Order: sequence, then C-alpha cells, then structure tokens
Amino acid sequence: MSIVNFWSAAFRLPSKCMKEVEQLCAAFLWTGPVLRPTGAKVAWSEVCKQKEEGGLGIRALKEVNLVCGLKLVWRLLMGKSLWSKWMKSNLMKKKSFWEVNVKTQTGSWMWRKMLKLREIAKRGFIDLGIRKEATVEEAVFKPRRRRWHRIEILNGIEEKLCYMKENLNVEMEDESLWRRESGIKTLSRLKKLGSLLGEKRKGIDEGCVLCKNARENRNHLFFECSYSAQIWRSLAMGIMGSSFTSSWSDLMQLIAEGRRMDRKRLFCLRYAFQAVMYGV
Ligand SMILES: [Zn+2]
Repeated sequence: MSIVNFWSAAFRLPSKCMKEVEQLCAAFLWTGPVLRPTGAKVAWSEVCKQKEEGGLGIRALKEVNLVCGLKLVWRLLMGKSLWSKWMKSNLMKKKSFWEVNVKTQTGSWMWRKMLKLREIAKRGFIDLGIRKEATVEEAVFKPRRRRWHRIEILNGIEEKLCYMKENLNVEMEDESLWRRESGIKTLSRLKKLGSLLGEKRKGIDEGCVLCKNARENRNHLFFECSYSAQIWRSLAMGIMGSSFTSSWSDLMQLIAEGRRMDRKRLFCLRYAFQAVMYGV
C-alpha cells in the first residue's frame, strides 16, 4: 500500500494498474502470500469502507489516485519546484492551466490526465461563486452570498475578501508611489514603505511569503530574504562588482549619492534596483 501511495503521489497511475494492485491486495487479505484470486468472503468495496461502517478502513485506490492527481494539480499551480517550472514553461507556455486545450497532443499521458482533472479541481471557484477570470475588484465588490465551506482555505479567502471590502476606502484617490524625475522612489517614501511593511497589520499574516522564514519587513524583503537576495545578486553583481551589497542601508546610500560610481554604472544599478523592487 505504501508503495502505491508513494508512486501515486508523484505520478498519476493508470486505472488498470490500480485495479491489478487492488486485486493483489484482496487476494493477499484472504489467502495470504499464495495470492489465490478466489475465495474472498467479503466484497473489496466493503473492505474499503470505514471501520465504523463495517469495513477495514483501507482506502480505495481509485480515490487515492484521484486525490493524488488533484494534489499534483495543486503542486503544479502553487509550487516552485523544478517540475512545476518545467511544466509551466514547456506545456502551459503562456496560458493558464485552466485554458490549455483538453485535446492537446503535447505532453505526456499524465499531463493530459491532469488536464482532465480540471473540472474537479475547479470546485474552489464554484464554491466561492467567483468566475475564474474575475478581477480582484469583481471578487471583492460583486454582490454574492458569503458561505461557510467545508474546506478551510475557502473560509480564509472569504474572510480576506470581507476584510478588504470593509477596509477599502473608495473615496481616496489612488496614490502613485513612483513619482519622481529619476523614476526612483524618494528616500522618504521608501522609509515610509519600510515602516508600513514593518507595522503590525491587523488580520494579515506577517510572515515572509517568499521564504516563510522571517517576518516580512522592508529590510528582509530587500534583500535579506534568500529568495530576493538571489535575484538581486544575479542582477546586480555584474554592475556593482566588488562594491556589491544586499544591505538596504548601504544600497540606499549608494543609489542616492552615487559616489564611487561612474554615471553609466549608477544608471544601470538604479535601473536594476527598480526592476527588482517591482518584480519582488
Ligand atoms: Zn523571506
């Protein structure tokens, strides 16, 4: 059983294969290592029922396979693994997982199986009553009934949407944070951003979403965080050379004053900085 669990966590297994494994399990249950296919006294579907319902609580492999398949979809969409990156760039191209043509001939048998799971995987949208193409604005303001869900994460989403709806000030003008001739945020604004990010925010998770290792504040995000540090390093190392730093205060000084650097280099650095800030 654990072998099956392992493989179905990584691959979607053909149902014929699942059926055969199940037959082996059933034969083992009634005849031991002899594995005689006859002689079962209770149907396998009964054996797979919960103990309270008179079964042995063995999971039906079809269900295990389905759940694992859905988990693969989840890992593909949420994960940062090499596998999900490869799938995204090679099979999904620029499309979203939900748009890929179901009749596609590219990709493996497993990929096409995963595409077929979309109808089931979509339940999140259906349960929330939000179109999958909806914008944030639509999700927050379009009138719909708030529901209680059996899946905890959906309740969390409902809560966040509610919070946004109540706390959003529609009267206030949008404020551009990027206003300045050089195109770089002014120091005072950046300081403000730092204090905003560092402030305790009611009802919002403060942990860094990128590395999940530290509190998310300005200095962590730019660029103490292992994730953003990596981006910063690969972009800025070549420009800054020996004066490379990922410390926020050093960077601020360097960018604002531009001493020790010729103009082209400084321009590139500022440009890279801006791009990484935006990207992260
Ligand atoms: Zn981090």
